[in-house]
Amino acid sequence: MAEYNKVTPEILEQLKAAAPGHIVYGEDLNPDYGRDEMPIYGEHMPEAVLQATSAEEISAVVKICAANKIPVTTRGAATGLAGGCVPVYGGVVIETIKMNHILSYDLENFSVTIEPGVLLKDLAEDALTKGMMYPPDPGEKLATVGGNVSTNAGGMRAVKYGTTRDYVLAMKVVLPSGEITSFGAKVSKTSSGYSLLNLMIGSEGTLGIIVELTLKLIPAPKNTLSLIVPFPDLETAISTVPKFKMANMDPQALEFMEREIILSSERYAGREVFPKTVDGVEVGAYLLITLDGEDEEEIMGRVEKAAELLLEAGAVDVMVIDNPQKLRDAWATRSAFLEAIMEETKLLDECDVVVPIKEIARFLTFAKKTGEECGLEIKSFGHAGDGNLHIYQCSNDLDKAEFIRRVDTYFEKLYKEATDCGGLVSGEHGIGRGKVKYLTESVGETNMELMRGIKNVFDPNLILNPGKVCYQS
Ligand SMILES: Cc1cc2nc3c(=O)[nH]c(=O)nc-3n(C[C@H](O)[C@H](O)[C@H](O)COP(=O)(O)OP(=O)(O)OC[C@H]3O[C@@H](n4cnc5c(N)ncnc54)[C@H](O)[C@@H]3O)c2cc1C
Repeated sequence: MAEYNKVTPEILEQLKAAAPGHIVYGEDLNPDYGRDEMPIYGEHMPEAVLQATSAEEISAVVKICAANKIPVTTRGAATGLAGGCVPVYGGVVIETIKMNHILSYDLENFSVTIEPGVLLKDLAEDALTKGMMYPPDPGEKLATVGGNVSTNAGGMRAVKYGTTRDYVLAMKVVLPSGEITSFGAKVSKTSSGYSLLNLMIGSEGTLGIIVELTLKLIPAPKNTLSLIVPFPDLETAISTVPKFKMANMDPQALEFMEREIILSSERYAGREVFPKTVDGVEVGAYLLITLDGEDEEEIMGRVEKAAELLLEAGAVDVMVIDNPQKLRDAWATRSAFLEAIMEETKLLDECDVVVPIKEIARFLTFAKKTGEECGLEIKSFGHAGDGNLHIYQCSNDLDKAEFIRRVDTYFEKLYKEATDCGGLVSGEHGIGRGKVKYLTESVGETNMELMRGIKNVFDPNLILNPGKVCYQS
């Protein structure tokens, strides 16, 4: 790992001159700059923060850092769950949250151009006013779209529409040298050499800083309808998923959740939406499904077919939610899972593996059993439609060192099982700081060397977001 220099008073003066009024340092640094939403991976403060307002300002600051070998870490809204935006080696944090303008729509080319700090919620809402949908729909709507692109965020609609990667047409980037360049174009296909655009997507701020994005939009579907489907247990719920997909139901979202997590989330949100007992049967798990389309009649036809299939597969009921308030409440309960867990838990870690769909049940059973053996409380939910599982390790009793020791033991077994199932370390949250070790074990040293080779070409001085993805000190 490289050695870095400190931000001396002289360097601080240069930074202030490069971005007048936008450099924060010393006592003005908010402690939040040292963490994201998963502080278990360590908290580290930067020496200075650029509250960026333009690409040129970022370029000027990065040039100073490059000349002085100062680490640079980009930060969006810090909602990440892998410690990605935490400046492990100090140095300068570049915060993009003030670069929050939607610059232009080009509806004839189904695209929108934005600054990286635009919040997902703002883009999604604004696109709808134009009759368009920005399909990626990760749970945290207050994340920046730049952060979403940098982690290749997934979310609820990935099962039908794909992940963030599928909606990035082009981007403007500040390289670790400070030079500004562009990748991609407003075109719907390309065979034009290596895809530097795709290398940037999901690179978690280790290859460049995204300063502008051109994204693909699609016409918004005219109708959507959701189903709450209670099951007696998780195994029955999960084993229904491949049947549901095989029947060509084309769900926009297909989420699974256990009873416990629904109870936490409803407590947190202060409202009850999901049934707990149906015809004397205690509900153990649920599927929450959304179908969309242009034609209401066609959707209702699919709902009827879906209900038949679900009941045959062991569901105890199929509740159609066509009331807009109830629909909002059901999805708000789903979206609040993580906040609900955080609210009730002192120590928390998470695993965001993705496994082939037919392996979900096997993996979840293993995850629960192994959690018990390791003395950890496990809460799980996830995107049943695409095999991306969120497994949370929780404790209110253990001291931090013992919790970390048990989680390490748990993860050794869990990630090995994921690999044996044909899965991968992260489905959507990224590697950041927290998962570097498990990435190496999963993809092997040859692939890690290839990743490091790519990193070295972009960033030979290793100043950009050090300690993340493929480098660990
Ligand atoms: C309640 C909750 C629910 C969530 N649900 C989901 C979900 O359903 N799906 C999902 O995928 N994630 C989910 N997340 C995780 C998180 O919201 C995503 O990882 C999101 O993409 C992070 O965006 P951010 O703006 O907060 O980025 P940050 O946390 O600030 O940064 C994340 C990474 O991106 C890099 N980065 C940020 N901006 C840029 C840029 N402009 N240029 C280069 N690098 C940059 C950072 O250096 C860091 O490595 C959830 C998080 C929470 C707290």
